[in-house]
Amino acid sequence: MTEQQAALTALLDLQAVDSELHAIMVKAKSLRESEHVRALLARRTQAIEAAKQLDARGREAANAVDAAETTVREIQAKIDRDTERLNHGGTAKDLMGIQHEIDTLTTQRGEAEDAQYQAMEHAEAVAADREQKLPLLRAADAQARDAVTERDQALAELKERHGELTAQRPERVSAVGHESLVARYDSLRNARGGGRIAVARFERETCGACGTHMSPGDAQSIRNAPAGTMPTCIECSALLVR
Ligand SMILES: [Zn+2]
Repeated sequence: MTEQQAALTALLDLQAVDSELHAIMVKAKSLRESEHVRALLARRTQAIEAAKQLDARGREAANAVDAAETTVREIQAKIDRDTERLNHGGTAKDLMGIQHEIDTLTTQRGEAEDAQYQAMEHAEAVAADREQKLPLLRAADAQARDAVTERDQALAELKERHGELTAQRPERVSAVGHESLVARYDSLRNARGGGRIAVARFERETCGACGTHMSPGDAQSIRNAPAGTMPTCIECSALLVR
């Protein structure tokens, strides 16, 4: 292997590292911007809000039951008091007055008991609705958490691999042995937004970087480029290794 061939082979190895580093960055970006995770998190937020509303409705309904019970109890206490007064006796006029009050209170108690019954029915309906919806809301929460865990794990793996490759890179650079070649490679790689393939094999008349199949004339001039010169792809400018 000539010195130039050895340098180019080392450059191909460097490109392999850089391509993987680039792929990792692309993958990490798409994981961070994942629409799937974003949608699940939005659904989780909605589910939490819906669960809070269900809890609030439940508390409200329970409070209404308590209030209705209190009303019934208070009316009953008044009836009991009046009944006791009635039993203690008095003038006919007083007794009639008390009896009238008891009758009025009894009607009120009937209404209050109806209201209490309705409040209980409402509370049961609210509780049943909550029972039915909570599993779905919990599932939305769990799904979002799982998706985030999975994404974070994938990102952690990418980060680890990125670290390994970054640590390997200086060694790969020095294996090339020609600073000017590495500089040319880097400038090709970082052109137009970066992440480009800067060096590739030229096999079967085709550029390994962009896949362009060369005309017979172009292919011949690449194959016959004098030693010491570095042919490049006419389409993507990648350095071609023959
Ligand atoms: Zn090309």
